[in-house]
Amino acid sequence: MKSIPDLFGSMVFNDTVMRERLPKDVYKALKKTMSRGTHLELDVANAVAGAMKDWAAEKGATHYTHWFQPMTGTTAEKHDSFISPAKGGSIIMEFSGKELVRGESDASSFPSGGLRATFEARGYTVWDITSYAFIKDGTLCIPTAFCSYGGEALDKKTPLLRSMEALDKQALRVLRLFGNRSVNRVIATVGPEQEYFLTDKKIYLSRPDLVYTGRTLFGAPPPKGQELEDHYFGSIKPRVSAFMKELDEELWKLGVYAKTKHNEVAPAQHEIAPVFTTANIATDHNQITMEMMKTIADRHDLVCLLHEKPFAGINGSGKHNNWSLSTDTGLNLLEPGKTPYENAQFLLFLLAVIKAADEYGDLLRVSAASAGNDHRLGANEAPPAIMSVFLGEELTDILEALESGKDYLSKERPKMEIGVTVLPHFPKDSTDRNRTSPFAFTGNKFEFRMPGSSLSVAGPNIVLNTAAAEALRGFAEFLENSDDFTSDLALLIKNTFRKHKRIIFNGNNYSDEWEKEAEIRGLSKLQTTADALPELVSPKSVELFSRHGVFSETELHSRCEILTEGYCKTIRIEALTMTELVKSEIIPACIDYQNDLTSLLQRKKSCGGYNASLEEYLLSDIIKFSSRLPGLLSELETALFESQDDRDIPNKARYYRDMIFSVMSELRSVVDELEKLVAKKYWPLPSYGELLCSVM
Ligand code: ADP
Ligand code: MG
Repeated sequence: MKSIPDLFGSMVFNDTVMRERLPKDVYKALKKTMSRGTHLELDVANAVAGAMKDWAAEKGATHYTHWFQPMTGTTAEKHDSFISPAKGGSIIMEFSGKELVRGESDASSFPSGGLRATFEARGYTVWDITSYAFIKDGTLCIPTAFCSYGGEALDKKTPLLRSMEALDKQALRVLRLFGNRSVNRVIATVGPEQEYFLTDKKIYLSRPDLVYTGRTLFGAPPPKGQELEDHYFGSIKPRVSAFMKELDEELWKLGVYAKTKHNEVAPAQHEIAPVFTTANIATDHNQITMEMMKTIADRHDLVCLLHEKPFAGINGSGKHNNWSLSTDTGLNLLEPGKTPYENAQFLLFLLAVIKAADEYGDLLRVSAASAGNDHRLGANEAPPAIMSVFLGEELTDILEALESGKDYLSKERPKMEIGVTVLPHFPKDSTDRNRTSPFAFTGNKFEFRMPGSSLSVAGPNIVLNTAAAEALRGFAEFLENSDDFTSDLALLIKNTFRKHKRIIFNGNNYSDEWEKEAEIRGLSKLQTTADALPELVSPKSVELFSRHGVFSETELHSRCEILTEGYCKTIRIEALTMTELVKSEIIPACIDYQNDLTSLLQRKKSCGGYNASLEEYLLSDIIKFSSRLPGLLSELETALFESQDDRDIPNKARYYRDMIFSVMSELRSVVDELEKLVAKKYWPLPSYGELLCSVM
């Protein structure tokens, strides 16, 4: 194997390759476009495309694709080869600047949420110059944004880039007020921690529910689950370790900073985390990571489950979105800093995020909403659906002291002009890590813990960036019109904290007391996706996103429709899978077992004298549960049939939750009871025990 530094980025057309292979003036022009967003001239694009093609061909690539992230939740690619016919029946390898910069594809097969009705079916992919091209499976992949003929975003990247611009603009305004002239850009940085399960491929394939829906729709609890807490950070089993090793190597080749890997809480559950990078690249890399996890698991006869809740009663998988703000000069704006001047700036940025979370908590919840994630949020393993911010005692005390005008802590610390003593340095673990908080400040970044494992992090970061941009805009507006910066800054810090401190909660988010307390505080609580999605098109949301040019009202409505459809379709597929499984496998298994028991019983009775109490006992229990199946099946089928009636978007989601999902839960509990009663050799599905302990 090559050394890791040699391996790293070997499949990426990165800055080093560009510097090596591009003429100086082309390289310079490209860098200018990258950092300042200036227009890219066609001759520059042509030169870059030529160099890219030569580099890719040397690495064995034969095709190129515009790689994009439509609203399906995964990535999309359509491969074109580099070949172009030439004289005498030969070919040449070609790739033009035009092909690099823009592609056209039929948008009509991707979800558009009604945008298609009003605009052309054509969709355009446009090169995202800020994310490097890479080679995957013999194809040069060019990260692109995907939009309609009219410029409406049809993907996740376009609004993410827009939100990063909005944040940059407002953060710069605030920095300028602090006299900072050296910073040219403020960038949202993201490091997503990715949880997943691994299961044996053979066992997986005999579970149609996992194959069709990504989660088990049935399954009685195993004798041993996660009770012993012996899996978290436990030693990694050889087969898993081989998978992780290959995954790291493949990700490194693709320039992904894969860094941390460990076992998670549940058996067969693991985590991978990269070193953070810009929000846009982190999002691309997380998509690549999820894809590679699936591909590489397959090579090891494993299946990687990215569903938020593959197994009932066992911890689900989340994706912690670590988020901060960084300047192009390398300063983390959420780093408390060492001097009073830095402290005040830090406090203001910190308060901007607190204000953002308080005012737009609903939208943060929406950004993590999906049918799969509904199984996690609020299930005493993941943060509850109530929005709050964990700050830690120390910072909370400081802000409280500022609010009340009292001195904070020690008298020896020099006092800063806004009235607060110099902040203590916060080591990352100065406060106990609060694992129950949905949104925790962890030393110099915020960790948003609501998102589920299969989600693209684009959505959460679009909301974080835009909501923070809005808070900073308000601060900038106020301070730009101030005659006395120092005293107005102190006032702003004090008032903002006073107004938004209700969102701060440092206690146990899983407790019943918190639920009551949060209600008194009036905090956002959107329990399910059906409750959350309508918030996306609320007047508040429309105002926020359109003010910052992130989403137009039309785009928001289209997204709301796509997400609602996705939610309903997911539940529909699960319900159909359930009915099919019950009819074709579970009922026949119950009948076979009953048959055998009955004939044994009859034989015993006809012989007379034998005690048949065991058979009678088993049969009566099986009949008790299995006799409920026909009624539940017909209830589910009727509900599915009636789901085709016309309903508006919010009602449709509620219908699926209340009329379909609820029956599915009941059906499941009956089948799980039957699994406990029916002898193993009759039961058609591998058990939870087999699934969770399948990988050695
Ligand atoms: P834990 O949350 O378990 O303590 P780490 O300290 O390893 O984990 O951090 C988790 C993630 O946070 C990593 O992906 C890391 O790169 C990311 N991270 C660290 N600093 C920042 C930052 N300034 N901005 C965004 N993400 C960050
Ligand atoms: Mg973490």
